[in-house]
Amino acid sequence: MRKPILAGNWKMCLLSQEIATLIEDLRKGTEGVEGREILVCPAFPYLAQVARAVESTPIQIGGQDCSWELTGAFTGEVSPKMLKDVGCTHVILGHSERRHILGEKDSIINKKLLCAISVGLNPVLCVGETLDERQAGKTWTVVEAQLEGGLAGVTMDQCAGLVIAYEPVWAIGTGQTASPDQAQEVHGQIRSWVAKKFGPEFSGNIRILYGGSVNPKNVDALMAQPDVDGGLVGGASLKAADFSRIVHFETG
Ligand code: PEP
Repeated sequence: MRKPILAGNWKMCLLSQEIATLIEDLRKGTEGVEGREILVCPAFPYLAQVARAVESTPIQIGGQDCSWELTGAFTGEVSPKMLKDVGCTHVILGHSERRHILGEKDSIINKKLLCAISVGLNPVLCVGETLDERQAGKTWTVVEAQLEGGLAGVTMDQCAGLVIAYEPVWAIGTGQTASPDQAQEVHGQIRSWVAKKFGPEFSGNIRILYGGSVNPKNVDALMAQPDVDGGLVGGASLKAADFSRIVHFETG
């Protein structure tokens, strides 16, 4: 019922020639794949290049962040309108690297999300706890606060295209993946929270992605969980063979 999304977050990696090769290999590696959405999120300078390269393929593109303003004197910022203009369908918001390295707060993420929605971009809202928070038994308290803050004042109609990514911070780029059961537990809690906020029909349709060291070896078990609807993939999305295998996940 929910079409899985396999999303690659290329972060601040790859230059133009590497991107050209990766996209070409990815195009071949995912040719003919059905029943799943593929999304790649390059750094801003390469969005237009990737948009041209994925023309007439089912691969979609997304930004890794955006401004909370549409236009004006905001040096260094990138408007969601610009992302849309170069062909993006999605934008990642609230990634843990932005929260923890760049100090982004829920209130800012919420402004960005509202701005992205206003131009028809689908936000991929990232939430997730640190290791300390998990060990202190605060996983759900943290995730719930991030959902509440990020989606404050957002109506159900506004967020028709919303995607949520559960990304435990301790699993991102560490090679330490959440077990399928750990992922399912939080995904189930997120879906119940969405059901309370927007009703059961909406929560039954929303895609909740898992992110944190997803790779070709663990993707099948993660995707077999009932509330895991896809993956937000960092490191493994930089290798065409690995990401293609992830896109071709099998749940038996
Ligand atoms: C990410 O960047 O969102 C991510 C999950 O990275 P990695 O797959 O490398 O852990």
